[in-house]
Amino acid sequence: EVRVRFAPSPTGFLHLGGLRTALYNFIFAKKHGGTFILRLEDTDQNRLVPGADEAIEDMLEWAGIPPDESPRRGGPLGPYRQSERLELYTQAALGLVDAGHAYYCFCSTQRLELLKKEALRSGQTPRYDNRCPRVIRFRLRSGVEPFQDLVFGWNQHEVAQVEGDPVVMKADGFPTYHLANVVDDHLMGISHVLRGSEWLISTSKHLLLYRALGWSPPAFAHLPLLLNRDGSKLSKRQGDIFIQRFQQAGVLPQALLDLTTHCGSGFATNRIGRKMEDLISEFNPSKITTHSALLDLEKIPEFNRIHLEQRIEDEEQSDSLVKDLQEHIQKAYAEEIQDKDVLRGSYITRILRLRKGHISSLKELVTPGYSYLWVRPSVSYQQVAALTSETQHITSLFLRFIEAQGEELSVEALSKDLKTLAKSAKATKYRDVMKLLRLSLSGLQQGPSVAEMMVSLGRREVIHRFQKLLL
Ligand code: GLU
Repeated sequence: EVRVRFAPSPTGFLHLGGLRTALYNFIFAKKHGGTFILRLEDTDQNRLVPGADEAIEDMLEWAGIPPDESPRRGGPLGPYRQSERLELYTQAALGLVDAGHAYYCFCSTQRLELLKKEALRSGQTPRYDNRCPRVIRFRLRSGVEPFQDLVFGWNQHEVAQVEGDPVVMKADGFPTYHLANVVDDHLMGISHVLRGSEWLISTSKHLLLYRALGWSPPAFAHLPLLLNRDGSKLSKRQGDIFIQRFQQAGVLPQALLDLTTHCGSGFATNRIGRKMEDLISEFNPSKITTHSALLDLEKIPEFNRIHLEQRIEDEEQSDSLVKDLQEHIQKAYAEEIQDKDVLRGSYITRILRLRKGHISSLKELVTPGYSYLWVRPSVSYQQVAALTSETQHITSLFLRFIEAQGEELSVEALSKDLKTLAKSAKATKYRDVMKLLRLSLSGLQQGPSVAEMMVSLGRREVIHRFQKLLL
């Protein structure tokens, strides 16, 4: 049975790195009919960020990769928050002490500092001398613990040489990451650990813990480092990689999933626009590479445009887009909307269908270039008249034309008719006729084609705008 987990520490909000780890766990689980677990590793009580735990689960749900078992959903092997499992770690630690694999240590932090200073002064790498208070330390056997990582292949790290015996239980009664992580992976029946490669070097230590506890370890697959496109470290500090930020900016979750999988790792191809079921069926863990994956944030608008287009075309999914856009419109234009009809679902749906493929975010539709769709522009006859001496003639010609149309307008048919009709203006070139019409309808010098503008606004509104101008 495949059981995998995403085990973030709620010391911050979910960012692209965490999303990638969660996603790979999710698709791995789904591919094997397994279970995806969210476990919050909140044992470092000093670094907890209030609200981060809830926000992490919210973001997983938003991204379409909800856990099967989690703090919120519960499950058979909970609780799923480490701070609620302290007894289990104490038991394990005491078991280790009983078996001689761990011991109490009573050093003060001051003594440890002193030790470090001395070592540095004499030019040695500071390391704990295994002689110290109140915490429980795990006795590292020297020797290597080779293991085969599913991505990185054979690995071995001489842990005892590098550091002293690690603390497994802290003085405050909380376990350290290493112990809690091992205990939980075991008790939660985790079969595969898929996590960032920064944990690769800790794995030997974890394996020693498994052995000392008499448990068999899960399989390990470490995911390559994520870097910016220029090879620099993906920084959480800039704040621009937090999932919530993208959500607020109108980025679709699928675009972010594309971003994290696009670098090709784990998939035979790096095609974009994959739906979740494609990600699951095309995922191939043996294709995960060891070299760093470069994330190109600049690709997001393009990915978003593709997914937005797919969503608009999908009847089931387009409803939620309509609702979102309604909210954006109300927020952006609240008082200015003269005609409440612009908030109708059928009107908004029509706009979305016409603009799909052109916009890379719903929010774009509430920028000034599109305000004519929601709010009547203030254009004066003088402004339009400045364009040509034939303004009166052209405007009434097109007004009569549109009046003669049925309710259903099509961009294609209209473009043809507009071209033919424009010929009857003697002193004005086609391009300038279109300029005049566009200005009259939208107050804009440029934008979508006039035919599309007319179809967007609908016959009734086009008539209204022409008439208003001629008054
Ligand atoms: N709590 C660790 C983290 O925040 C979990 C690492 C692991 O998956 O083992 O990344």
